[in-house]
Amino acid sequence: MINIVLFGKPGAGKGTQAEFLKEKYNLTHLSTGDIFRYNMKNNTALGLEAKVYIDRGDLVPDSITIGMLQDEVDRNPHSAGFLFDGFPRTLTQADALDQFLASKGQGITATIALEADDEILVKRLLERGKTSGRVDDQDEEKIRNRYQEYNEKTAPLMDYYKNQDKFYAVNGIGTIAEITERLSNVIENL
Ligand code: ADP
Repeated sequence: MINIVLFGKPGAGKGTQAEFLKEKYNLTHLSTGDIFRYNMKNNTALGLEAKVYIDRGDLVPDSITIGMLQDEVDRNPHSAGFLFDGFPRTLTQADALDQFLASKGQGITATIALEADDEILVKRLLERGKTSGRVDDQDEEKIRNRYQEYNEKTAPLMDYYKNQDKFYAVNGIGTIAEITERLSNVIENL
């Protein structure tokens, strides 16, 4: 069983790469962003609660996000492994995930970061906002706020996983196929 955390700033390409990696390695892809958007679209209680934060470009509180993620893992008891995309995003989430997986006799195998420069990413998100319909992609101020959230709350996770000897980084600039290849190289050498 391998459990991979895909790590990177907003717009780094986690979702795009996850689509390829889940097929290639038979992993269950769990994107907290996608799960939140599904709930918002269907006006569930969870969606309505999360929307306030997401539309501002703020992180959704840990108390909401952690329970949601755990429910999704529990919904896939026969999975051959998980590809976590957009989770964990805070140290509290990372600790909760480690404890939760340990309670099932499992753990994170590796965290792989897609690296790219902020200015390139902001341009990518504004471009995506033209077609994605995502409120948080359409306004540069909200995008900048997401980077601030990332720098304050998510960036410390790099040291968290480095201390566990589980952190890998690949260059996130290139063609989609090139980047899949870089990620595959890491996964196959684990
Ligand atoms: P991106 O990586 O492009 O910002 P996501 O689809 O991963 O997009 O996430 C969209 C939004 O959903 C985030 O800005 C945040 O508000 C919320 N979100 C997603 N995952 C988490 C998480 N693990 N913790 C808190 N909020 C989250």
